[in-house]
Amino acid sequence: MATGGGNRNGTHKLPNLRNSTSFKSKLPPQNVRRSVGAAGSTDSVSGRVRVAVRLRPRNTEELVADADFADCVDLQPELKRLKLRKNNWDSDTFEFDEVLTEFASQKRVYEVVAKPVVESVLEGYNGTVMAYGQTGTGKTYTLGRLGDEDTSARGIMVRAMEDILANISPETDSISVSFLQLYMEYIQDLLNPANDNISIVEDQKTGDVSLPGATVWEIRDQQSFMQLLRLGEAHRIAANTKLNTESSRSHALLMVHVKKSVVEKDEFSLDAQNRSIGNLSPPMLRKGKLIVVDLAGSERIHKSGSEGHMLEEAKSINLSLSALGKCINALAENSPHVPVRDSKLTRLLKDSFGGTSRTSLVITIGPSPRHRAETSSTIMFGQRAMKVENMLKIKEEFDYKSLAKRLEMEIDKLMAENERHQKVYENEIERIRLEAQKRVAEAERNYVEALEEEKTKCQMDYMESIKKLEEKWTINQQKHAINAEINNGAGNEEVVELKRLLQDEVCLRKAAEDEIHNLKSQLFRFSKMELAGGNSDGLQQVLEEESYQKKKLEEEVRVLRSQLAQISVEANQARGYPDGSNSGNPLPGQDSLGLLNHMRSRDGNNGERASITNLHEQVGLQKILSLLESEDANVRIHAVKVVANLAAEEGNQEKIVEAGGLTSLLMLLRTYEDETIRRIAAGAIANLAMNEANQELIMAQGGICLLAMTATDAEDPQTLRMVAGAIANLCGNDKLQMRLRSEGGVKALLGMVRCRHPDVLSQVARGIANFAKCESRASSQGSRHGRSLLIDDGALPWIVQNANSEASLIRRHVELALCHLAQHEINAKDMISGGALWELVRISRDCSREDIRALARRTLTSSSTFQSELRRLRIEV
Ligand code: ADP
Ligand code: MG
Repeated sequence: MATGGGNRNGTHKLPNLRNSTSFKSKLPPQNVRRSVGAAGSTDSVSGRVRVAVRLRPRNTEELVADADFADCVDLQPELKRLKLRKNNWDSDTFEFDEVLTEFASQKRVYEVVAKPVVESVLEGYNGTVMAYGQTGTGKTYTLGRLGDEDTSARGIMVRAMEDILANISPETDSISVSFLQLYMEYIQDLLNPANDNISIVEDQKTGDVSLPGATVWEIRDQQSFMQLLRLGEAHRIAANTKLNTESSRSHALLMVHVKKSVVEKDEFSLDAQNRSIGNLSPPMLRKGKLIVVDLAGSERIHKSGSEGHMLEEAKSINLSLSALGKCINALAENSPHVPVRDSKLTRLLKDSFGGTSRTSLVITIGPSPRHRAETSSTIMFGQRAMKVENMLKIKEEFDYKSLAKRLEMEIDKLMAENERHQKVYENEIERIRLEAQKRVAEAERNYVEALEEEKTKCQMDYMESIKKLEEKWTINQQKHAINAEINNGAGNEEVVELKRLLQDEVCLRKAAEDEIHNLKSQLFRFSKMELAGGNSDGLQQVLEEESYQKKKLEEEVRVLRSQLAQISVEANQARGYPDGSNSGNPLPGQDSLGLLNHMRSRDGNNGERASITNLHEQVGLQKILSLLESEDANVRIHAVKVVANLAAEEGNQEKIVEAGGLTSLLMLLRTYEDETIRRIAAGAIANLAMNEANQELIMAQGGICLLAMTATDAEDPQTLRMVAGAIANLCGNDKLQMRLRSEGGVKALLGMVRCRHPDVLSQVARGIANFAKCESRASSQGSRHGRSLLIDDGALPWIVQNANSEASLIRRHVELALCHLAQHEINAKDMISGGALWELVRISRDCSREDIRALARRTLTSSSTFQSELRRLRIEV
């Protein structure tokens, strides 16, 4: 009887596995209390090798051959006993863990023999199911039947895999299988028969045995496993045929590795829900290994000597099996030495006997009394095996590998995600930055544009309103003046004056009438005396004398007139005039300088010069000048034309003045109201006025008053142009400034702008520019203080108005005038209020002449008043 067994301590312990309580118990592993440590766990529990005996039914041969004999065994399954007959009257009784009769179904065999082992494997133990027995007793039938035709015939291998597959989850767990054959101490891969010398590798630390050279199939489903079994079986048959041996002489090993993650609800376990990134506890993994061994036939080799093996060969064939028997004997007897290393089979099954594996052994026996000895030997083997005590150890460990893999994947995923986010973030930042940049630029541009527009608009509005105000102001002024005049009774004064003149006229008329009356009475008295005295001859003589003288003088006048006429015609022809109508125009150019040049340009025209010189020499300047006072208007006109022509010659100017020509010309302005004479005379005066000495003479002889008077009276633009030209010349004389102004010259000049003829305006502008220039010179020399007289006389509005005149000549003079005025700080305020500042700014920016532009800029920057105003208006020069 072999119940229970010796406790074997000192089992192989894996260094990384925690030792736990170990005790001898037949309790199944699931009932074992265990604790789990940080590094993993292992449970140890004593587990005897469990042995079942299975009896094969009589086969056909036995039914015939042993028909008259009883079976050699008698089974008492309910008592788990087997009686082995010694003879007809005696038998030995053996007790086994299970006694399976010839009627035991494959299913029952599986459940009794293999199922507990399979369950242990799923829980992380190593497990071994082994069949031992004489050839033909049903080892292969028990283990390896595929049950293709009859599913109830499925053997332990097929059922075990079905059970395993049913208890794992394909997502987390894995099954891998190797199928091998051990023959003559060579391990051959049944999945790759060419690989027929696989070596056994033992882990020095853990003592684990592995076959790294063997093919490993991952099993996903039953079909693939069936396929594997078929392939292995086919290879096994082929290999045995080739070696000329029988499968009964070789050992077949099926190795199934199960990796199963632990799904438990206790606080230490990791369930699927807890497998978050935050939970860094590694999942628990249980690794179980199931070995199913279909051993070679246990009959002694000499019995099957028909195979013709040599003795050595036979020894080698049985080496593994006998080594297994020795080991089991040693273990059963608690021998200190177990010859595990004697064979490959014992090395491979090191863990299955006396190791940490849960082991089930099924011994198969036949009923035939002819094989009693072999049956007995088999039973004894089983009996010894039942004494072998194993220390079951659960192989449970933290799956750091899978945790690391999982974490690595998570890290990779997070890194990729992070990178993606980073990229998105960077892109977004870049987009926002560009957008912002664009918007800022746009806003700046818009702002600048708006500012510029606003500035221009303001300037325009400002100028516009200034102009309007000025216009209003002028109108008001005029209205005011008219009102004042009316109020002051100016009209009355005029009436009084007229009355006075009328009175004078009446007096004169009366005097003349008195004179006529007087003369008449004298004549009457004289006639009476003549008649009475008879002195009519004397009177007659006097009258004749008088008449002769008169004729002579008339003759002389006629000659002179014809000469004059001829000269005039010649002069006009020489100038290219078709007739004499414009011959008196002494200012063909835009100014007096132009006139002079014009006259000079004709120096080559000897004919005319000769004529004038001729006339001048023939008649004498004195005589020509005297003709200016001729009562005959034609004479006067011709005479003044000649004088004007002479005056155009610089060389003649002094002579003309010396001979009293200036006085006569001025007299013409004063006396005659004939437009032509006045025009020509004014032209001549203008020419003479180019000379500085003459300018003073003109002044001394009251020329300014006369020119001013003409300026006021005349309507003809050409006359006004001459007068303006003359005054403009005078304006350029520093010495005459005060008198020119006090005698109304400036006012007269400004007054002429009523005539809108550009020639007149350009002369006025020139005069203003000259005057301003003299003023600014005097101011800078310190000889002059106070505001510009031009401003005093109200010239500023016109200046400002014409500063941007379309006529370039006017514009140029006015621009210069503005620059000169601006140079004296005292004018600045008026200029600002009069709107001249804008014009100066414009000149400093737009003037086509660089020198004027620079002058304007200089002027603006040097004046503090302008500067502060410009600052106030935020205008940059
Ligand atoms: P072994 O593998 O031990 O040499 P086998 O399994 O090949 O023996 O069985 C030998 C023969 O016996 C086979 O024909 C098999 O079908 C048959 N056999 C074995 N065991 C049984 C059983 N329990 N019931 C019916 N037939 C069996
Ligand atoms: Mg067999």
